[in-house]
Amino acid sequence: MRVEQEIDKIKEDALKELSSANTMDGLQAVRMKYLGKKGDLTRVLRGMGSLSPEERPRLGQLANEVRLLLEDELDRRLAELGRQEQLRQLAGEALDVTLPGRPVQRGHRHPLSTVLREIERIFTGMGFEVVQGPEVEWDYYNFEALNIPKGHPARDMQDSFYITREMLLRTHTSPMQVRTMEQAVPRLPVRVIVPGKVYRRDDDATHSPMFHQVEGLLVDSRCTMGDLKGVLLAFARQMFGPDREIRLRPSFFPFTEPSAEVDVSCLNCGGEGCRVCSGTGWLEILGSGMVHPRVLANVGYDPETAVGFAFGMGVERVAMLKYGINDLRLFFDNDVRFLHQF
Ligand SMILES: [Zn+2]
Repeated sequence: MRVEQEIDKIKEDALKELSSANTMDGLQAVRMKYLGKKGDLTRVLRGMGSLSPEERPRLGQLANEVRLLLEDELDRRLAELGRQEQLRQLAGEALDVTLPGRPVQRGHRHPLSTVLREIERIFTGMGFEVVQGPEVEWDYYNFEALNIPKGHPARDMQDSFYITREMLLRTHTSPMQVRTMEQAVPRLPVRVIVPGKVYRRDDDATHSPMFHQVEGLLVDSRCTMGDLKGVLLAFARQMFGPDREIRLRPSFFPFTEPSAEVDVSCLNCGGEGCRVCSGTGWLEILGSGMVHPRVLANVGYDPETAVGFAFGMGVERVAMLKYGINDLRLFFDNDVRFLHQF
């Protein structure tokens, strides 16, 4: 009976101590005291060998039942204390609803998108409509209909990505001049701008194989080079500042006649001459001209009664001038240290 009483006492003492232990450490100490390698119950279980064969199974079973009971109770108390600990922590954290929220990292428009939207805003303000054209274009629209037949030297200026012999990635947005007029004939006036991506086999600090252009086209029963200059001056002043001047220099494009390069007075020096404008006081921003009578005739307008002007500008070029960026490739590197400056 001595062993049986010892087991009962271990059970009662251990349960009492488990229920009064108030910390995790306290519970672990109780476990060590009774169930550890040198614990009281472990010692009893190890001593079973010295009991008589009649007593051994009954007392062995009793000791094991107590061991299981104590282990269960220990687990239950550990879980209980864990929950209490959690509740204490939560209760200790006062909820301050006046704390400012954590700021959400917001992106913003790419500088090219910003400039493109500004260009669209300026021209729609002057009555132009925004239209889009296909980036994969027929040779006919990209070249032929624009008065650039096969073998024309102007094709050499626009190294192209051909898809088939008759299909290519458009090298400029000018094909939409033709597509727009085809749709409009014989209606007048036509006033559109065409923003979009164009592609050429060029890659350096001022050229990218993909870049953006905005084409402008106006066709009416009467309009002059003076109207063209007025529209572009209004654009330059809204885009680059009210003090800007523009000048037209004679140039050549197969689909306009006469043609002109358009310069804006230097944003940096205002026309005095500086490093940015190579001392000339002027910065080239776009090409323009009166729509070639042959282009008008190609789409079905009568060049005797319809006259128009067209212009085209590189969006990257405008953005580089506006923001003083010296390497076009920065636009496409997607480096947020660059992008966050705008
Ligand atoms: Zn300058």
